[in-house]
Amino acid sequence: MSPLFNRASAWIKTRFGRRVQKIPIDAGFSCPNRDGSLSGQGCLYCSNASFAPFYSNPQLAIAEQLRQGREYYQKRYGCSSFFAYFQSYSGTYAPVETLRQKYREAADCQDIEGLIIATRPDCINSDIVTLLQDIAQATFIRIELGVESFDDAVLAEMNRCHDVATSLQAISRLRSAEIPVCIHLISGLPGEKPDYMTRAARVTSESGADMVKLHHLQIIKGSRLARLYAASPDSYHLYSIEAYIDRVCEFVANLAPNIYLERFISRIPVDQLVAPIFSGIDESAFQRLLEARLKTLGLYQGSSILASLP
Ligand code: SF4
Repeated sequence: MSPLFNRASAWIKTRFGRRVQKIPIDAGFSCPNRDGSLSGQGCLYCSNASFAPFYSNPQLAIAEQLRQGREYYQKRYGCSSFFAYFQSYSGTYAPVETLRQKYREAADCQDIEGLIIATRPDCINSDIVTLLQDIAQATFIRIELGVESFDDAVLAEMNRCHDVATSLQAISRLRSAEIPVCIHLISGLPGEKPDYMTRAARVTSESGADMVKLHHLQIIKGSRLARLYAASPDSYHLYSIEAYIDRVCEFVANLAPNIYLERFISRIPVDQLVAPIFSGIDESAFQRLLEARLKTLGLYQGSSILASLP
């Protein structure tokens, strides 16, 4: 029986022949939305500290972060193949020669199959694309692009300091250079309209993106959003697990069948999370619930696109 949606893990297994574990690292980059170039405040929900494991420390050399991460994942999960994951802040936001040196340092480390680089759409320009093409001659590269929303009003409300057109242009530039792109989207942002998931899936389908990472809005301790939420919790609608699964079903059913889905929830430690807390639900459990709900609703990836054809 064919799967109800395309899992990114299947794409990785087809390409590399095995599971490849990401090792998040902090290469010491900043973000134009935090360093004052665009704003000094960052996105409303930003709290980068929440995502960093113990070895992801900019005081350590990239090679040392990867060595510690490799040891951790080898012991914990028996992994033997890895991606260096430039996760913190904006992974293409530095002078080109600095980026080249850091990417090469990571690519040259033991058991590293390639680089996954998280960044903002406005940190992709022609010089960066040329650099990525150079690096990609010898090393697998995938860009994780923080699109977050396909609604300009929502992006403005979140102080993202870029618009939808910039996201679409970045995806197009990367695809023209044959650099695979995984876009990151958040569902449940304040101001999101009721038909947003359908529209977001349709725009994603047309954008040229290869993969999507989706998650629900989370309020993280230390973020500006956490302070606003504490002052006025009723102003924010946060998903229950059931409501979020239904939103994801809508997204999947409206997503083109050639796109892969990487994940649906994020792994922020509960002690750093204000709300919502999906107790005991990890990514695997979520995907089992999602499959069950898709079956109940008679949906699968792209089924609503097919149903709307004349
Ligand atoms: S783009 Fe990322 S790192 Fe920069 S402020 Fe927004 S969430 Fe934080």
